[in-house]
Amino acid sequence: MTIMNIVHQLQGIGVSPGIAIGRACVIRQFEPGITGETLADEAAVEREIALFREAVGRSMEELILLMAGAETAVEEILGVQVEMLHDPMWEGEVLSKIGTDRKNAGDAVLEVTQDLVNTFGSMEDEYLRARAADIEDIRKRVMRYLRTGAAGTVEGWADHFVGVHEMVGRDEHDGVSDAAAFADQILVAMDLSPSDLIALDISRVIGFATRTGGKTSHASIVARLRGIAAVVGCGEGLDFIVDGDRLVLDGVTGILLVNPAPDVVEQYVEKRKEQLATTRFLQSLKGKEAITTDGIAIHLSANIGSIEDMEQALEYGAQGVGLLRTELLFMQSNSLPTEEEQFIFYKNILVRAAGRPVTIRTLDIGGDKALPYLPFPKEDNPFLGYRAIRISLDRKDLFLTQVKAILQASVFGECRILLPMIGSVQELRQAKALIAEAKEDLTRQQLAYDADIKTGIMIEIPSAAIMADQLAKEADFFSIGTNDLIQYTLAVDRMNEKIKALYDPFHPAVLRLIRNVIEQGHLNGLPVGMCGELAGDPQATLLLLGMGLQDFSMNAPFIPVVKNIILQSSMALARAVCAKEMDNII
Ligand code: PEP
Ligand code: MG
Repeated sequence: MTIMNIVHQLQGIGVSPGIAIGRACVIRQFEPGITGETLADEAAVEREIALFREAVGRSMEELILLMAGAETAVEEILGVQVEMLHDPMWEGEVLSKIGTDRKNAGDAVLEVTQDLVNTFGSMEDEYLRARAADIEDIRKRVMRYLRTGAAGTVEGWADHFVGVHEMVGRDEHDGVSDAAAFADQILVAMDLSPSDLIALDISRVIGFATRTGGKTSHASIVARLRGIAAVVGCGEGLDFIVDGDRLVLDGVTGILLVNPAPDVVEQYVEKRKEQLATTRFLQSLKGKEAITTDGIAIHLSANIGSIEDMEQALEYGAQGVGLLRTELLFMQSNSLPTEEEQFIFYKNILVRAAGRPVTIRTLDIGGDKALPYLPFPKEDNPFLGYRAIRISLDRKDLFLTQVKAILQASVFGECRILLPMIGSVQELRQAKALIAEAKEDLTRQQLAYDADIKTGIMIEIPSAAIMADQLAKEADFFSIGTNDLIQYTLAVDRMNEKIKALYDPFHPAVLRLIRNVIEQGHLNGLPVGMCGELAGDPQATLLLLGMGLQDFSMNAPFIPVVKNIILQSSMALARAVCAKEMDNII
């Protein structure tokens, strides 16, 4: 039997590399539902409010205890949940549902958290979308206390395989796996929360597969952190797996095989050996510079949104940060981050970068990236609307505060400013005038900043790509944002699953625009980089090199992969590949 003939084969998303061969350990998670109960009188209201407060308090205690024993990244994730639990807005909404709408505490929590999950879950930004998992984690935790009166302790929890499921095992909705006795377990679950994963007995769990989830869901992040092979988003087929089924899971291709024939298992044993060798090899490239066989040095940097991402970037040997998405800082706060708060965040990144260049992009909010504390009117076409630099030029107060924070941080390292969604020379001029104003203000206050800081622009709107020759005369550098450039050039919503086949990074129109930007940038002596996802796509590396791109910024794990291609290729080869590809499309 070949791999193609496998009957029980599920296709998910590979989120943490590695091949796991083991036995299924199926976890059925606690899924509480709305009861629809109406509270009879004031006494019932009082009782439900007291229950809610107690459940929140105990959830908070539990989180704090869990944080104490967790790795830094997990601790941060749980810290976000503690903050969310403290949020007076969500508390207020729950209390109003109990007091005014007369719902019981469980129903109120379910309704309020569901709204939040929907809001975050539909956001464009993958990172922010993944925050929906935090809210779901909070919901489960609070609901556990409300509906089961669970009195479990964290110690008890961590003692068990996935203790949270043990505790709610008393509830009729839930059951815990009998497969805990097997060694080499592969967890099979609806989804896994960070808390679930902390409680894992790592010596026995070699992989997990979930029905839902995406690349930046927390289960995926923690899997990568702990080096556990993982496939998420396997869909309904996962429901047919039972405890003890023999599974083969490929965390790269996203394939999950259920009870495959022995010869297929054998093939995967071989593949696992090869993958291990590749991983070791890629790790060995960490300290190497990315130089082509004919001696051209290519700069490989990382896209980040947080200090944890910065750590990961260094792990993978990033030579700098090509894109710091500052909106993540704003999205994680409950109110507008002050100049001081922003300054500290940027400074910490620059200090950690230790002299490596860091490109800080000003706020790219709007579209579907909302800030709850800064509501804007609903728009029919948010991606074509009030977004990024358009907001910054309108809300000068926000922009000036951010630029002043960046400028003050700039003395702590090699810092550049990047402006998102520039569509015309006029917009660039207006933004530069505001940056000059911010500098004057700091000078007046006798605050230090890098007076020669470079200001570059994202090229992510077709008008900017077409006008690259003019923009190159006034910008200090270009960074090509292919994620948006593709969606705007091809009129294909980057979020719309239904038309994802039309979202083609190799479409001739996109490639012509990219080539034009690189050529015009270089003709004008400008450094040109790329920070859209295409920069980390190994299939595009030679083509982009051949176009003359020398600065690639990507999600950190792709750095060694792209580096490996560069180390084995000459510019002559890259130019030939590029000429052939461009010939084919013209
Ligand atoms: C891009 O559009 O390619 C880009 C890097 O920006 P973002 O993904 O944040 O829109
Ligand atoms: Mg963009």
